[in-house]
Amino acid sequence: TPDVFTFGETMVALRGDGPLRLGGAMTVSVAGAESNVAVGLARLGHGVRWAGAVGDDEAGELVLRTLRAEGVDVGAAHRDPHAPTGLILFEARLPEVTRVHYYRSGSAGSRLGADAVERAFTAAPPRLLHLTGVTPALGEHARAAWERALRLARDHAVPVCLDVNFRGRLWSRRVAGAFLRPWLPYVDVLVASADELPLCLPPDGPAPDPEEQADRLLGLGVSEVVVKLGAGGATAYGDGGAPVHRPAVPVRAVDTVGAGDAFVAGYLSALLDGAGVAARLERAVTTGAFAVASRGDWEGAPTRAELGLLGGEDDVLR
Ligand code: ATP
Repeated sequence: TPDVFTFGETMVALRGDGPLRLGGAMTVSVAGAESNVAVGLARLGHGVRWAGAVGDDEAGELVLRTLRAEGVDVGAAHRDPHAPTGLILFEARLPEVTRVHYYRSGSAGSRLGADAVERAFTAAPPRLLHLTGVTPALGEHARAAWERALRLARDHAVPVCLDVNFRGRLWSRRVAGAFLRPWLPYVDVLVASADELPLCLPPDGPAPDPEEQADRLLGLGVSEVVVKLGAGGATAYGDGGAPVHRPAVPVRAVDTVGAGDAFVAGYLSALLDGAGVAARLERAVTTGAFAVASRGDWEGAPTRAELGLLGGEDDVLR
């Protein structure tokens, strides 16, 4: 039984050093919100099954090989002979500003089928399902697969984590909110940035403060709302108790892309370990800081033994 089941689009990622229009060398890797979480969890020793789709091409082989090398189970992943693997270009435009360019429309990852997801899920129901709000924005096939997964999780009493991960390039806030809101009762752990909270609530009335927004979401049946606050750390709201906050772990920011996914990996890892909310946030801000302090979306994710490196006294480990 896998600890976590997840799927979504993973693309080939090219990353350069300066303005894209100047050309030059780029490094080749892979990127996808859910697979970033999958790698983060695998590094921490959890069993993760990723059931996305890639093209039947060399880019797709790179995705599968990379995930396999990281210990993620890709046995249920699909190679689509009729569509290519998507592509993402990361342009380091300014030290703190990365621009991304997508070439993913009509990609294999967006054409993932609901039946394939169902087969992969029911073959070994997981302890936890992790989804993001990216997948339903990719098209009707991906959306149907995402909905099927939520229904399967409910049928099998598998808790669900949803990271809102709003992508303005793929759909508008209005459309995203209208689509996601009816599904919130299927979600146990809702992860969002502070600016994504209003999107999850009906668009009526004045915008209340984050605590009231979280309370309303808890009222919809979500058991836990975890709000990412960038360099401000994160706050978790749950049934009953007072909100729990953890500051970010101070690091030199090298590449903030992927911090949110790394954060989710840390949070879910501690949740799977049976840790309380403070310890879950603690691990999440730690894995988030690792991502911020290293180049790439997932490359710098810590192993369990490395979790203690941040905040340690030594700058050389001999
Ligand atoms: P992304 O979409 O780029 O992955 P996000 O907006 O989903 O990021 P953030 O809130 O930026 O998520 O970051 C997630 C977590 O990572 C934060 O809650 C925090 O713990 C950690 N983090 C983010 N930025 C920093 C930073 N500059 N220094 C230390 N930790 C950070």
